Amino acid sequence: MEQNLLEFQSNAPISAKGYAAFGKEWKFHPYNFMRHSVGDNDVLIEILYAGICHSDLHTIKGEHGPANHPMIPGHEIAGRIVAVGSKVRKFKVGDYAGVGCMVNSCGECETCKRSEEQFCTRGQTVFTYNSKDVFHNGEISQGGYSSNIVLSEKFAFKLPKNVAIEKVAPLLCAGITTYSPIKYSKVKKGQKVAVAGLGGLGHMAAKYMVALGAEVSAFDILDKSKEAQKLGIKHFIQVDSQEFNTLSNKFDFIISTIPYQYDINAYHKMLKMYGELAIVGLPSHEDNPKLDANAMIWGFKRKIYSSLIGGVSQTQEMLDYSIKNNIYPEVEIIPIQKLEEAYKKVAAGEANFRYVIDMKSLS
Ligand code: NDP
Ligand code: ZN
Repeated sequence: MEQNLLEFQSNAPISAKGYAAFGKEWKFHPYNFMRHSVGDNDVLIEILYAGICHSDLHTIKGEHGPANHPMIPGHEIAGRIVAVGSKVRKFKVGDYAGVGCMVNSCGECETCKRSEEQFCTRGQTVFTYNSKDVFHNGEISQGGYSSNIVLSEKFAFKLPKNVAIEKVAPLLCAGITTYSPIKYSKVKKGQKVAVAGLGGLGHMAAKYMVALGAEVSAFDILDKSKEAQKLGIKHFIQVDSQEFNTLSNKFDFIISTIPYQYDINAYHKMLKMYGELAIVGLPSHEDNPKLDANAMIWGFKRKIYSSLIGGVSQTQEMLDYSIKNNIYPEVEIIPIQKLEEAYKKVAAGEANFRYVIDMKSLS
C-alpha cells in the first residue's frame, strides 16, 4: 500500500475558488481564497459535485447562529483525492471520496469516542463551513461550492469506483440525517410511518423506510402526490386538506423535516401509543414550533426526540448501505451559475428534491 501513496510534501496553503455569499441575501459571487495546507493526516479533494441543502439557505441568513461572510456553503460533497499527507492510510490519489457536515473534532471526549463527533463535548466539532476551526488557528471553514477541500482523512468517506458519483453527494447530509433516526427508532417491515416535509431530506427518509418494508405516508404543503407515488409512498396528504385533521393514533414513527413554522402537536397526535417523532427540520428561532406539554401528557406515552446529522462511523455505514442497495437521491444537476435560481426554488418547496452543482462549471 505504501508505494501507492503520493506523499504531499508541501506545507503551502492551497489555493481554491468557489462561489460565496457576501451578505445575508442569497446572492453569490466568484471568490478566490486559501485553504490550510495538507497536514500529515489530511487529504486534498478535488470537488466534483456538491449538493444544496436547505441548511445552506438558513445559514447564509444567520438562522442557524452567527453568519460569517463571505461564506461558501456546501456540506454534501463528492470528489476525487488529489493529494494525501504522509500518514494517510485510508485513501490513495485517484480514489473517490465524500465529505459531509463535519471536517474535524477533538477525537478524545466521550461522544467523539462513541463516534457522535457532531456533539463533541469539548465544543471542537468543526463543521464544514461557517465554523471556527480550532485546529487551524481559528480560521473559518469554507464549504463545498468550491474547487477543492482539505480535511482530516478521518472525516472523509470512502466511495467505491462504481458509485454514481453525480448523485452521491446528498447522501452526506440528507442521507445520514434521515438514516440515523430511522435506525435509532428501529423502523421495520410492516410498520406505519410518515414523513413530514417531502423535500431533500424527506424523500431520502421515504426511500429508506420503503426499502425497510414499512408502509410510508408523506405530508407536504404542495401537491406532490405523483412524485410520492414514484417513491413508493402509499399515502400522500396535503397539510391543508380535511384528511390532515382526522389523523390520530396512526403511526409508529414520524420524521419531521419541515424547515419553517408548523404545528408540531398535530404530528404528535398522529402517533400511536409509544410511537416516536424524530425532529430533524431546523427552522429559524422565530419559526421554532412550540410543543404543547399539556396535550403531550394526556396523549399517550409517545416519544419526541431530535437528531443532528450522524457520526463518522454511521455515515460510512449509511453510504455503504445506500450504494449497495442503489438508494440514491433524486437530483437535478446544475451549473454553479444557476445557484440563485436554485435557491429560490428550494425556498418555495419547488425543487426536484435535490439540486447538485456540477463543479466543472466553475472553470
Ligand atoms: P427542503 O426545502 O428540500 O424540504 C423541505 C420540505 O418541507 C419541502 O418539500 C417543503 O415543501 C416542505 N414544507 C415546508 N413547510 C411545510 C409545512 N408547514 N408542512 C409540511 N411540509 C412543509 O429542505 P431540506 O430537506 O434540505 O431540509 C429540511 C430541514 O432540515 C431544514 O430546516 C434544514 O436546515 C434541516 N436539516 C437538519 C439537519 C439535522 O441534522 N437535523 C441536517 C440537514 C438539514 P413545500 O414548501 O412545498 O411544502
Ligand atoms: Zn444539510
